[in-house]
Amino acid sequence: MIISMRLHATKEEVDGVCERIQEFGYKVHTIQGEERVVIGAVGMGDVTACLESLQAMPGVENAVRISAPYKFVSREFQPGRSVIRVNGTEIGGAEFVVMAGPCSVESERQIMETAEAVARLGGRILRGGAFKPRTSPYDFQGMEVEGLKLLRKAKEATGLAIVTEVMSDGDVELIAEYADLLQIGARNMQNFALLKSLGRAGRPILLKRGMSSTIKELLMSAEYIVAHGNPNVILCERGIRTFETETRNTCDLTAVAVLNELTHLPVVVDPSHATGRRSLVPPLSRAAVAVGADGLLIEVHPTPEKAISDGAQSLTISQFGAMMQELAPYVELWKRGRVEGGL
Ligand code: PEP
Ligand code: MN
Repeated sequence: MIISMRLHATKEEVDGVCERIQEFGYKVHTIQGEERVVIGAVGMGDVTACLESLQAMPGVENAVRISAPYKFVSREFQPGRSVIRVNGTEIGGAEFVVMAGPCSVESERQIMETAEAVARLGGRILRGGAFKPRTSPYDFQGMEVEGLKLLRKAKEATGLAIVTEVMSDGDVELIAEYADLLQIGARNMQNFALLKSLGRAGRPILLKRGMSSTIKELLMSAEYIVAHGNPNVILCERGIRTFETETRNTCDLTAVAVLNELTHLPVVVDPSHATGRRSLVPPLSRAAVAVGADGLLIEVHPTPEKAISDGAQSLTISQFGAMMQELAPYVELWKRGRVEGGL
């Protein structure tokens, strides 16, 4: 069972609910979120009687039984979509949000030029890695704090919000000073120490699906973040490993439709990492709009042939512009569907 307390419920009300749960034979797991307290009740007991009793208690907003292993992120817990605000941009609502930028921040010129183009061409959030998870220890590991400072400069110049990756729990506070949205990469989707530390990050999270993770595992990782106090999680399908070798990964668009049934959290697609080839980014982006994603994460670079990481899958600025134009009528249809479907 999950019991959401009302905003500003008193300590006495929370304690009263915890006692009542224990009287029914359940263990209590209290989560102090930024805005409200949520209480998990785990164990065996008379669920129906317990729920009835809790629903009548002062300070209780909602008490529900949830059969899925992930609780807070399930549609059972919250039937309506979550809308997540990233520096004024809403993801999961009436707008289809494009986040774009280079794989890595490489230089002031590169990030400023890209940021200006992303803003002009309709992107809302600038991506760029400053701490990079690289397969080889000999590859470029990112500009680190210097990169964060350049992202801040690009934000000041363009007004774009910033998304950048956090690789370790020790870096969360530092990166949250610079970023509006914290990206958890595929390789860290099950770094549970990191996930727990995001509960108090004070920033929304972009959680990428692990390359060999099931949809359920992705949702359990999101549950970690929410259960530790941060309800603002956006999921990202970035391709999974299959037997197919023609593309870097297999872009699992089915996951978007499945996630839309199972969770209220917004879902975006990263066709750049999902395919590994820039020619495939525009068609997969159209498909992502059609299948009901809430947005895209796209790699763009002024000179992809010189990019330090992921050049082959990065669009040039003019290719990004063309893609955005081509996407516009699909996004119009998407918007109509959102509004007519009651969002
Ligand atoms: C990235 O977005 O640059 C990245 C490293 O992605 P992923 O974690 O999906 O591989
Ligand atoms: Mn990349």
